[in-house]
Amino acid sequence: METGEAAQPLNQDSARRYSRAKLRLSLSATAIELVLLAALAFTGASLGIEHAVVRRLPAQASAWLIVLGYVAALGALLKLASLPFSLAEQHIEIRYGLNRQSWASWWRDEAKGLALEAILGLAAIELIYALLRSAPRTWWLWGWLAFLAFTILLAQLAPVLLFPLFFKFRELSPENPNEAELIRRLSSRAAAAGARIRGIYEWMLGEKTVKANAALAGWGATRRVLISDTLMQTAGVDEIEAVFTHELGHHVHRHIRQGLLLQAGLSLAGFWLSARVLERLTPVLHLHGIADIAGLPLLALVVAALSLLLLPAANAFSRRLERQADDYVFSSTGRVEPLIQGLERLAQRNLAEVSPPRWKEAIFYSHPAIATRIRRAREWEKQRAATAP
Ligand SMILES: [Zn+2]
Repeated sequence: METGEAAQPLNQDSARRYSRAKLRLSLSATAIELVLLAALAFTGASLGIEHAVVRRLPAQASAWLIVLGYVAALGALLKLASLPFSLAEQHIEIRYGLNRQSWASWWRDEAKGLALEAILGLAAIELIYALLRSAPRTWWLWGWLAFLAFTILLAQLAPVLLFPLFFKFRELSPENPNEAELIRRLSSRAAAAGARIRGIYEWMLGEKTVKANAALAGWGATRRVLISDTLMQTAGVDEIEAVFTHELGHHVHRHIRQGLLLQAGLSLAGFWLSARVLERLTPVLHLHGIADIAGLPLLALVVAALSLLLLPAANAFSRRLERQADDYVFSSTGRVEPLIQGLERLAQRNLAEVSPPRWKEAIFYSHPAIATRIRRAREWEKQRAATAP
């Protein structure tokens, strides 16, 4: 780990093909989802599903039970429509040599993801419809508040409750002679920043993918930095320190809080818009009032369309935070080379398109392209050389 392996030369030809294949797939999946939701909402098919569900329930079934039955039917339909795309995505990972996961393990992850979506999704939808029934004028405001509380709770609990469902983690230990030096370096970086990071964890990505990654996660007592084993095993100490310092930059600049605030604003707009659309279209679609569960595809369509429209803005915001985190590495360590090395390693391992077309970066990239980040590092270095005494 001391010196690390040199990154292999980049294969940008296959990176471009890989990126195109993934983008085509995700755009097709989104298009199918939108078309399906619109068809359900506007052709009366959603009402048909509702009637079929109600017919199979006892005559005096409660509203809660009808919502449960409808959500199960709609959820199964949407899952069936999206499963071919998930399978195709995994095939792309295999074709480009990025996958290390067996199909059995992949299906287990799918099942866990589905169970999680079912539990959280059903709870959220039951709550929204209870609010629609009991507070038809102000439901969107209460719904938004509940959504906000839940999002904050999830940010806090995800690293201890959700991530371990899919990945193993191991806290770095000073007892391990390979890690003592690394921990000393990372801890002193965090201490110098006055950051209360509650742990540095090795994130076992390597049993599923060759890709490398690192992240800042959690809130308060669960705040931690995650560094993938695929990075730990190949990168040198300087490089890992640079990647860690980037994550520290997210912490110092309070990026998780900023992200949550943005989400709060956007979701308030989303809830308000959903209420207006639902009010307006309830008679047009022959729904039995706004609390009719057959209106769910319409609500989902509003949310999906709004997320798609806001994607470029959300990604621009995210790229700004990533720039800040990179700048934090340069200003706090005074060095650009280790981060550049780390970025080159990421590009090579993850088969990243180093200089994508400008439009693609603007719309779809949550991080600036690798070439953009390296250029900024070089500029920072040049500027420092020019201003140095
Ligand atoms: Zn970052």
